[in-house]
Amino acid sequence: MTTAKERHIIQDEFQKRMDEDELLNCMRCGFCLPSCPTYIESGFKESHSPRGRIALMKGVVDGLIEPDEDVERTLDLCLGCRACEPVCPSGVSYGHLLEEARDIINQNKKHSMPTKVVRKLVFEELFPYQNRMRSLMGLLSIYQRSGIQTMTHKLGIMKLFPKHLATMEKVLPDVPKLKEMKSRPSQLEAITEEKKRVAFFSGCLMDTMFMKTNDATIKLLQLVGCQIVIPQNQACCGALHGHSGEKDGSKELAKRNIMAFEQLNADYIITNAGGCGAYLIEYDYLFKEDVEWKERAERFVSKLKDITEVLVEMEFHRLPLQLPQQIITYQDSCHLRNVMKTSDEPRTLLKGIKGVEYKEMQESDSCCGSAGIYNIVESTMSMQILDRKMTNVKETNATTIVTANPGCLLQMKLGIEREGLSDKVRAVHIIDLLLEAYVGKE
Ligand code: SF4
Ligand code: SF4
Repeated sequence: MTTAKERHIIQDEFQKRMDEDELLNCMRCGFCLPSCPTYIESGFKESHSPRGRIALMKGVVDGLIEPDEDVERTLDLCLGCRACEPVCPSGVSYGHLLEEARDIINQNKKHSMPTKVVRKLVFEELFPYQNRMRSLMGLLSIYQRSGIQTMTHKLGIMKLFPKHLATMEKVLPDVPKLKEMKSRPSQLEAITEEKKRVAFFSGCLMDTMFMKTNDATIKLLQLVGCQIVIPQNQACCGALHGHSGEKDGSKELAKRNIMAFEQLNADYIITNAGGCGAYLIEYDYLFKEDVEWKERAERFVSKLKDITEVLVEMEFHRLPLQLPQQIITYQDSCHLRNVMKTSDEPRTLLKGIKGVEYKEMQESDSCCGSAGIYNIVESTMSMQILDRKMTNVKETNATTIVTANPGCLLQMKLGIEREGLSDKVRAVHIIDLLLEAYVGKE
């Protein structure tokens, strides 16, 4: 609970820092409402819609509304999926408004001691250090491989946890051994005629828990004729910090990444996680008030591409690709679609695979409810959104759900498990499926 003094400071900061022109840009037309999952799932509550949230932010700036728990709650409940942006006729940058508002609230309210400790551990001690991230994942790998996980399940220990967390633990991918995670090459050559030199943003979770997908990414890039550089001094993209009101921390990480990539003379900087890509592609906005870093960030951003864009450009889908007969469907990563504007390319690649029938699900462009750590901290709303998603999945009769972001992938696995479909349906990252299709044909 915020005190009156804290609310006063937050209000002051809203007046100083919120972009009033952007707030005024919203003409209250409501075109964004049907795209907002929290508006729909809350039973059409205006305060849980983009228009309502913008009105609340404006009310705080104007001194008409106190930034109390209700305001904080409605902002917390936003997924940050940004589905409200592409449909907005005024082009309101809702995501930027949300991020600024969350940053102001988080920086100026007193957190409880346990929250402070967790935030410090996550934002200052873990995510900025890839070696610590690897060590933590190494422990998870031991837990999975040593038989402790099996025993935990047999003894029913996971039943002590909330159901969605217990299910989440069950669907985690097999984490590689610490030794494997440490032995990453920094440069790889093309295995066909070399056409491009690319730098790979390998990510923190992607290069540990989802290392298999990173290996597949490298393989596909080599196949289409890319020399790949993987700078070892790169850092976490900063999305988790940025979306959680830790803007200063995200700027530090962004600077480390800009420095790590700017001297590499690469044609492209490649990412394979929609959530990371969307944050990286807005580094220029992050430094909008810092001339030197803004310029450096602009150069970084101009080279950034999602792996699916590069694969289509380099005509990977024209290679012989084959899979056993099956129906597949694609769940958009909100950030890949709404921020990186990449939605056709994954579909083009999937439709290039022989043997599969591609079926578009209803509302494939709508959030699955994963949204970073949203499915942990806002589990009720997240599971409600997921259940709706799974209804749409089931209508396609797909046996393979494809995604392009690790968070969405875990959420889809969670949905499959919750529906009791794990013996019939699987969820995969698009890159893993493409490699499978290439190897299948070979
Ligand atoms: S569509 Fe845009 S202008 Fe219209 S209410 Fe939503 S945010 Fe405001
Ligand atoms: S970001 Fe997503 S959840 Fe938040 S207001 Fe926009 S559409 Fe709704």
